[in-house]
Amino acid sequence: MAHTKLDTVTKVFTEDDGSEIIAVDEVSIDIDDGEFLVLVGPSGCGKSTTLRMIAGLESITSGTISLDDRVINNIPAKDRDIAMVFQSYALYPHMTVRENMSFGLEESTDMGDDEIRTRVEETAEMMGIERLLERKPGELSGGQQQRVALGRSIVRDPAVFLMDEPLSNLDAKLRSSMRTELQRIQDELGVTTVYVTHDQTEAMTMGDRIAILDGGVLQQVATPLECYHRPENQFVAGFIGDPSMNFFDMRLEGERLAGEGFEYPLSSDITGKLDDSPVVLGIRPEDIELIDGTGGDHEYAAEVLVVEPMGNENNVHLRIGDTRFIATVNGMRRITEGETVTIRLPEKAIHVFDRETGEALH
Ligand code: ATP
Repeated sequence: MAHTKLDTVTKVFTEDDGSEIIAVDEVSIDIDDGEFLVLVGPSGCGKSTTLRMIAGLESITSGTISLDDRVINNIPAKDRDIAMVFQSYALYPHMTVRENMSFGLEESTDMGDDEIRTRVEETAEMMGIERLLERKPGELSGGQQQRVALGRSIVRDPAVFLMDEPLSNLDAKLRSSMRTELQRIQDELGVTTVYVTHDQTEAMTMGDRIAILDGGVLQQVATPLECYHRPENQFVAGFIGDPSMNFFDMRLEGERLAGEGFEYPLSSDITGKLDDSPVVLGIRPEDIELIDGTGGDHEYAAEVLVVEPMGNENNVHLRIGDTRFIATVNGMRRITEGETVTIRLPEKAIHVFDRETGEALH
């Protein structure tokens, strides 16, 4: 176990033509001992580069990475006591599962054969692969290979575990069961883990905290629920949640926000936080209520454009004037395309962002 700290870590790649790419831009994260931290963000946001710098597979342009207060910037990967699991498993095809798992211990420790055998067998049991020990990777399914790859890292008992999209080659069902299993194992071992994914569901369900990156810049580090309920900016608000939060371009006029085709009255505790700069009003599809009758504040008549049945819920595409948005409503409710429904956008559920900076104002 180890407390892992990234302090203003930056990575700049220089292309052949001399141009520079800032892949990671002054990222600072304090990862607690035993924490499961998920690094999440869209393709190209710098997740893998961050992980590779922690692993020692990529040099650090500036800033420091430390393990338990020891700066590891210049320590070679093999001496960092960190294990990394890749999306591609990276198993040795000519070795059996047992040999794949034993190899690292034989190479980098002075453990005896008996101790290695015991540790490999205990780990194999933990991973549910004890009956596969004498097989070669080519004789295993994708899910089994991934278990072996994880087992091979776990058996080394590292201080920090790094995983780069380890489940992305598995089918949806297997991915979901491996998610639960990985959490169980991490909990059991209590090993500090940094897990990279572009999948926000994985981030929301697995992380003690999630660190959201965009364009190499850290947007927020917080628990999944904090990111969901109190996003610090519009990027985080739009990235977390499926379907995404609805956004409306608006501007404060007196006691209300005015936008394209509709207005939204605000109480004074919100107007007090705003000036007359352009803002974005945000509301999650699941916070929009379908109601009977009309007339109250925050209630609107909306035309139903498309209904997407999801089983217990429907995603309903709606329109007020030229403004389009999505509401997620109970699947039992019968709604037909073309009809007009009444919706409420409750004030307690709204978010307001600065349109220029994206910063959350409320
Ligand atoms: P993905 O989810 O697609 O793997 P990512 O979030 O892991 O993306 P990185 O692989 O860390 O993103 O890449 C961050 C940025 O750095 C991208 O713009 C990428 O093109 C660039 N980059 C990564 N590795 C190199 C390299 N070796 N040389 C030049 N640029 C690179």
